[in-house]
Amino acid sequence: MLVSDRPSLTAIASVGPTAADGRLPLIGLDKAEMAALAVEMEEKPYRGTQLFHWIYSRGARSFDDMTDISKVCRTRLTDTFTLERPEIAQEQISEDGTRKWLHTFADGQKAETVLIPEDDRGTLCISSQVGCTLTCRFCHTGTQRLVRNLTAGEIIAQILVARDALDEWPTPKDDSRKITNIVLMGMGEPLYNFEAVKKAMKIVMEGDGISISRHRMTLSTSGVVPEIERCGEELRINLAISLHAGTDDVRSKIMPINKKYPLKELMAACAAYPGASNARRITFEYVMLKDINDSEADARALVDLVKDVHCKFNLIPFNPWPGTPYECSSKKTIERFQTVLTDAGLTCPIRTPRGRDILAACGQLKTDSEKLSAKERRAQAEQAWAEKDAQLG
Ligand code: SF4
Repeated sequence: MLVSDRPSLTAIASVGPTAADGRLPLIGLDKAEMAALAVEMEEKPYRGTQLFHWIYSRGARSFDDMTDISKVCRTRLTDTFTLERPEIAQEQISEDGTRKWLHTFADGQKAETVLIPEDDRGTLCISSQVGCTLTCRFCHTGTQRLVRNLTAGEIIAQILVARDALDEWPTPKDDSRKITNIVLMGMGEPLYNFEAVKKAMKIVMEGDGISISRHRMTLSTSGVVPEIERCGEELRINLAISLHAGTDDVRSKIMPINKKYPLKELMAACAAYPGASNARRITFEYVMLKDINDSEADARALVDLVKDVHCKFNLIPFNPWPGTPYECSSKKTIERFQTVLTDAGLTCPIRTPRGRDILAACGQLKTDSEKLSAKERRAQAEQAWAEKDAQLG
């Protein structure tokens, strides 16, 4: 019997926490693992392909929906496995249409996902960790401790939940998409959870799975230099770098990871990023912080810094959060900064902040919902940064 085979199902054990009723999650298994599972169930391997298709391409939430699988097999699957998604603890819709979901996973941990709808695309920003080890000073998530990495299943489940909510599972008559792009830019540093991220993104790319092209997927990193090349070679998706400064002096103050991987190493990794070209440029994210990184001298330093990299910039007006020590640069300052970059031939749109009213904008995600005053939050942030910096060395 399958149940007695459980200990041998190591792939499934790595997918995510077991459901409350003891059943094992299937979301997060790739095609080869599903085929192996079918064989363990004494079924033909193509059953695994059918399962894969039903789960990721059709969005099946119950084995009973899988009408081309025998009833006996469906019953066995139902007895042992689950297709349950994380619970939606909260859903918020911004006045600009941005949607944010707070998910509760099987072990009670929480992470957020944000959908940014635009006229010609829908970008889903997903999380890779609960909390974050890093302490980027402008980022709300950076004040939260790292609780754990998300599993591949939990990373993919964020996409499934969003597709459920948008009712965008394809039908024979309608296969239009509201989610066209995926960005790993939510909570956490994806390159510190690369194996799970890689597995999840490969499932997303599969033609008979979620089927989103690698050209429409972007991984954003704070600059974990040793993993950048792997990302380019093994995933071949677009790369975004949270840059935010043109000198080591400024960057190390607002992004302590810069002390470990300084700009020279980071730029060398970007210049060598597999697949980067003029047609496929690396995106440098640059948050505009008043009197911190927004002078014309800062802009000129940036121009010099990125001269060997195929790149473009996104200038992001800072999105405040409760307790932050920073303010957003003025519109005039941002435009002056942009002019320096543009005059040097760099593409650098100023991003329109999205979802600010629901704390869904860049750098605003955090799953702790304690009610604290701004002063208390600031004190809490400083304490968290000090503790995490001490751990980082
Ligand atoms: S910007 Fe990213 S890496 Fe930095 S603290 Fe926030 S979530 Fe972590």
